Amino acid sequence: MTTGAFSRVIMRSSARTREDGDRCGLCDLPVADGHAHVLDERTGEPECACRACALLFEKDGAGFGHYRLVPARRIRLTGVASADLGVPVRLAFFTLGPDGVVTARYPGPMGAATWTVDPSAWKTVTARNPDLASMRPAVEALLISSVGETDEQWIVPIDDCYRLVAVIKEAWSGLSGGDRVWKDVEAFFTRLRESREER
Ligand SMILES: [Zn+2]
Ligand SMILES: [Zn+2]
Repeated sequence: MTTGAFSRVIMRSSARTREDGDRCGLCDLPVADGHAHVLDERTGEPECACRACALLFEKDGAGFGHYRLVPARRIRLTGVASADLGVPVRLAFFTLGPDGVVTARYPGPMGAATWTVDPSAWKTVTARNPDLASMRPAVEALLISSVGETDEQWIVPIDDCYRLVAVIKEAWSGLSGGDRVWKDVEAFFTRLRESREER
């Protein structure tokens, strides 16, 4: 999967007006704001999904040919530290490959640096946090932040992570990021908590 592809889709949907808005990648109907996304496993590219197509995926348990629904759920966790996963940064997200390999990404000014997580460390952390065992490959991520005032651990849809990557790229300045970037990261997590409460 490519970070660029997701940010492109997200930016496209925010830049366009409703008249020339996004269309469902499956049936070509126009999609509303806040629509779902599916991941095309052949290309790693996300596609917009209309309400009816997204419902079909929900019913069929998320898989349909080579498409996977990006789930809408957001689960806040506690007691998960990136250090326990051998990742020495305060902000990272973790995804599960179809082969079970866990990859950590650290969002920075140039995109996201990656590490492969030690399987035994992942197993230990998952055993302590049963919600993590339900994390879906490719389309969900464990997101951890302890930067600034944040103390956040979440299972989120993968597009949230790419939104965060875009926030950081946009706000980063100088060598260490500057003051604004961490304020924007804090604001991102505030919105995450609010969006969960709306549901
Ligand atoms: Zn559709
Ligand atoms: Zn879309």
